This record gives sequence, structure tokens and C-alpha cells, in this order.
Amino acid sequence: MSEKITKTDAEWRAALDPETYRITREAGTERPFSHPGFPKGPGHYDCVCCGARLFDGDTKFESHCGWPSFSQAGGKIDELRDSSHGMIRTEVRCHRCDAHLGHVFPDGPPPTGLRYCINGLALTFVPES
Ligand SMILES: [Zn+2]
Repeated sequence: MSEKITKTDAEWRAALDPETYRITREAGTERPFSHPGFPKGPGHYDCVCCGARLFDGDTKFESHCGWPSFSQAGGKIDELRDSSHGMIRTEVRCHRCDAHLGHVFPDGPPPTGLRYCINGLALTFVPES
């Protein structure tokens, strides 16, 4: 699972729909509250690009910020300093395929105090029975 996945730009473009491509490969952001949400129930959230498991359902919480939010990473995620848009933020990416996921902020609930603010289009929900 720790193997890196690398594809050419053309390969990603062919594999993803245009909006998902824009978000995950060009560090885009979906409009807040634009994602219809994920099915309720136990499960986990995988990278839409490579299928790596990224977040567990029991760390998801309602942040009212307009994007799916998690209090802790459930898989391998890279954190990068992002100084775009005149802000210093911490970008989070899928470790396996470098997909842009969103950002992490230090204003989440205990015990981590973190809020992973993630584009819904970057994730696939996998139900667990
Ligand atoms: Zn990935």
C-alpha cells in the first residue's frame, strides 16, 4: 500500500471527470456546500484517484464549513505548507498519488484539535457492513 502511484497528466485527465481532475491534480477547491454528502453509516473514505484509505468514518464530524471534515487522518497523508491566496495554510495530499485533498486547520474538536477540511470530490465512501 505504500507504493507511490504516478501517472502522466494525460492519464489522470482520462481517468477523472473534469471537476475531480481540477481539484485533485490542480489543487482546486469545490464550492462550499456543493457536495451532496456521503451515505450515512459505518465506512471509510478512500482517495478518489488511487483508492488509498485516507479517513475513517468515525472521525468525520459536522463542522458547518461547507466541506466534509475529519478530526484525524486514517491513512498516509502528506502535509505541505501552502502560501497561496495570501494565507499560510497546511495543504493535505494523498501520500500514495499526490492528489490534492484539502487543508488541515488547528480548530477541530478534541482530542486532536484538528479539522481536515476535505473536498468531497477527492473522496470515495466505502461502506462497511
Ligand atoms: Zn491517492
